[in-house]
Amino acid sequence: MNKYDVIVIGGGPAGLIAAGRAAELGNQVLILEKMRNIGRKLLITGKGRCNITNNAEIAEFITHVFPNGRFLRNAFSQFYSQDIIDLLQRYGVASTLERGGRYFPASNKAADVLKTLTQWVKELGVDIQTNSPVEKLIIQNGEITGVQTNTTSIKAKYVILATGGKSYPATGSTGDGYVLAKQAGHKPERARPALVSMQTAGNTAQKLQGLNLRNVKAVVWINGKKAGEDFGEMIFTHFGLSGPIILTLSRIVVDELFKKSKVVVTIDLKPALDEQKLDNRLLRDLNEHGKKKLVNIFRNWLPSSMIPVFLELLQLDPEKECHQVSSKERKKIRHLLKNLSFDIIGHGSYQEAIITAGGISTKEIFPKTMESKKTKGLFFAGELIDLDAETGGYNLQIAYSTGWLAGNSCLKTNKE
Ligand SMILES: Cc1cc2nc3c(=O)[nH]c(=O)nc-3n(C[C@H](O)[C@H](O)[C@H](O)COP(=O)(O)OP(=O)(O)OC[C@H]3O[C@@H](n4cnc5c(N)ncnc54)[C@H](O)[C@@H]3O)c2cc1C
Repeated sequence: MNKYDVIVIGGGPAGLIAAGRAAELGNQVLILEKMRNIGRKLLITGKGRCNITNNAEIAEFITHVFPNGRFLRNAFSQFYSQDIIDLLQRYGVASTLERGGRYFPASNKAADVLKTLTQWVKELGVDIQTNSPVEKLIIQNGEITGVQTNTTSIKAKYVILATGGKSYPATGSTGDGYVLAKQAGHKPERARPALVSMQTAGNTAQKLQGLNLRNVKAVVWINGKKAGEDFGEMIFTHFGLSGPIILTLSRIVVDELFKKSKVVVTIDLKPALDEQKLDNRLLRDLNEHGKKKLVNIFRNWLPSSMIPVFLELLQLDPEKECHQVSSKERKKIRHLLKNLSFDIIGHGSYQEAIITAGGISTKEIFPKTMESKKTKGLFFAGELIDLDAETGGYNLQIAYSTGWLAGNSCLKTNKE
């Protein structure tokens, strides 16, 4: 039976950083990866560009993480955004800062990030064994002693579980970590897709399919009460609603659909104007262009592909002249511009979810070391932990920081 100081299960960003740090401390480290190649998900991040991290200060960063961003304070105090930027820079991969504090590789290639992390761990002497799914943790008297793969058992003093979540299962993240953690006495929080699209009732969204809207506000209503809002960009799809602000709001929606709540999303197409200002604007336009047909004046207010759908929803005759529009009808127009409403009846699956919410509870992990509170010598890193963040480079930073802290906690002398 082989023997290592540290076995890292999973060759994603969390596993790679964990392995590199553990090796820097002098440990003999092995990464076991079930797929043919490591880092498959990393390669598709940021649409192949990889939003490496975010330049937010720690206090701000943790407000973008759910359900317990504060858990990350220790990890962030030891390895943060500048540290990953510096590590990549050492290998010649420069980063550029974009809108919203997002860092990308200057080359715009996620592959450069993976290449660098791979080179770094290899230079530190880390062994990487692919096509090696771990099927079992070997635990004796509450202490980890090794792992069992599909072909063999391997001993180790420490094991770092970095198997990711369940989203984009084709990349290898199929939720194995939850099963393995249960063997170690953990009770994972229910996993569910996060950062996903929303399925709408009716066919309004489908009629608008492909239309991208900027500078709009989306509001989520749960059983008639406002539960969240976001401002920015969205898109209509064959399925319903998607795009950045929809993905952000999806975390509330997924949970509430599970509870069978009534979920409605309204889109405010004119967020810069309050009801009164919008009414003044409509009145002015209708008065100024009294002889124009309604369908034509709508061009002042909406993208052209939305106009027929809007008029249908309003049940207004497109041929009607503007001076014929009653104040009641104007009120209806105003209301729809501020509240284009969709009943939400479902959400996207793991196949398309950017991240998995749920997983190993932060209550079951020591925040100073990432060690399991249930099994000695077992550590957690990355998406497997019950932490998920908004888009913006936050999720990868969580993976590196928890990975680094887990690796850093495998001090060679500890268990001699
Ligand atoms: C389309 C998409 C785009 C994204 N873009 C961004 C972005 O731009 N910025 C950002 O911050 N985040 C982004 N994310 C999220 C980010 O990719 C994840 O948060 C991150 O990859 C999590 O890292 P991880 O190492 O914890 O898990 P993963 O990257 O999922 O790696 C886990 C690894 O463990 C392996 N594994 C699983 N089970 C076993 C087993 N039993 N034995 C051995 N190995 C196993 C898997 O094969 C995999 O290689 C994106 C996600 C997706 C899906």
